[in-house]
Amino acid sequence: MAKEETLQCSFCGRKKAETDLLIAGLDAHICDKCIEQAHGIVVEEVADGKGDSLSSEMILKKPKEIKAFIDQYMIGQTDAKRVMAVAVYNHYKRLLQKNTTEEEDEVEIEKSNIIIVGETGTGKTLIAKTIARMLNVPFAIVDATVLTEAGYVGEDVETLLTRLLQAADYNVEKAQRGIVFIDEVDKIARKGDNPSITRDVSGEGVQQALLKLLEGTVVNVPPKGGRKHPDQKFVEVDTKNILFIAGGAFSGIDKVISKRLNRQAVGYSASMSEDKIDEENLLQYILPTDLKSFGLIPEIIGRLPVLTHMDPLDADTLRVILTEPKNSIIKQYKKLFEMDGINFTIDEKSLQYIVNKAVEYKLGARGLRSLCEAILTDAMFELPGSEVKELRVTKKYAESKISKTTIKKLKAVS
Ligand code: ADP
Repeated sequence: MAKEETLQCSFCGRKKAETDLLIAGLDAHICDKCIEQAHGIVVEEVADGKGDSLSSEMILKKPKEIKAFIDQYMIGQTDAKRVMAVAVYNHYKRLLQKNTTEEEDEVEIEKSNIIIVGETGTGKTLIAKTIARMLNVPFAIVDATVLTEAGYVGEDVETLLTRLLQAADYNVEKAQRGIVFIDEVDKIARKGDNPSITRDVSGEGVQQALLKLLEGTVVNVPPKGGRKHPDQKFVEVDTKNILFIAGGAFSGIDKVISKRLNRQAVGYSASMSEDKIDEENLLQYILPTDLKSFGLIPEIIGRLPVLTHMDPLDADTLRVILTEPKNSIIKQYKKLFEMDGINFTIDEKSLQYIVNKAVEYKLGARGLRSLCEAILTDAMFELPGSEVKELRVTKKYAESKISKTTIKKLKAVS
């Protein structure tokens, strides 16, 4: 061991006495001044790197890799995964193109904003969130139902960028490469065919307001959200590289599709006999024209050029969702109990029971969590701190925790 007085900073050579603090490593020492300097370099490097390294990382992920990543968190929905993997890949290729060349005669790749149609609880939010997680970009979820045309009660369309800014810790550069998920986009569909007779505050007006944002424009965003206020300072956000993913249940659109497929909702048409139509999953045949019939204006549809759908979740899929994804519900409970030193297991019959209840009461994937919560809340309250170190959930135990009233409550919130 070196003697106290001979100790010195291995970086700048200052003697211990000349420093305020000298920290020992394995074979070296570093003084407070060098730490400060090094810290400054790190901060600068990281800030610089944020710009370009992001898009160069992007290009490493090929569509198949993107899908493989989503597969870890999400069961089934192969069509949506493939379509979205390609859209996201193209989107970030586009960003890279913008970065590498400014040549005028370049073929300009257009934005590939996405629209997903699928019943609630089929994973629309999950897939958008998972992609954002993979790309390590800021992600914001905004409910389209709160948006109104500027000047009306509700939130201006720009506030959806406020959420993105918040998700990016107010780093504008980062926010400008983020992903915004616009939920319940079907709720801003035009109601009725003649919009000029009654003013449709939350319908077509909002769609019009969204147009520019989807396409790419510089927007003055109120950083704290809320209504635009003359005193509030705005932050300029350019939306041209933000990926917008819109999702909606478009309830009733199956009838539109069915009609287009030249069939009645009930019955069988001989003309379609060659291409067997899967009645249980009409959404798979969705086309942009169906969205138009539903009440989205053509311009909006044009700016959401990638259209995909979510399949309904059957019992088998729900069963796999319970245990298989990387952060599946059951794995999460296992972890929660483990943190209290409790070994939690649940048998196959109980899992089937949960799935059957979710199917029977049409609670979807979201219902799985609520059902598990109802079954496990008592144990999660009683066991921590007690002598019990083992919880085995059997079907009988699960049944005892789920009464008709619980189901009713679950149905009300799902
Ligand atoms: P949506 O946005 O379509 O209403 P969500 O994405 O919010 O549905 O999904 C609801 C819940 O169900 C989430 O907890 C999600 O993790 C789970 N979930 C839905 N679909 C799947 C799936 N295919 N694989 C795994 N989990 C799923």
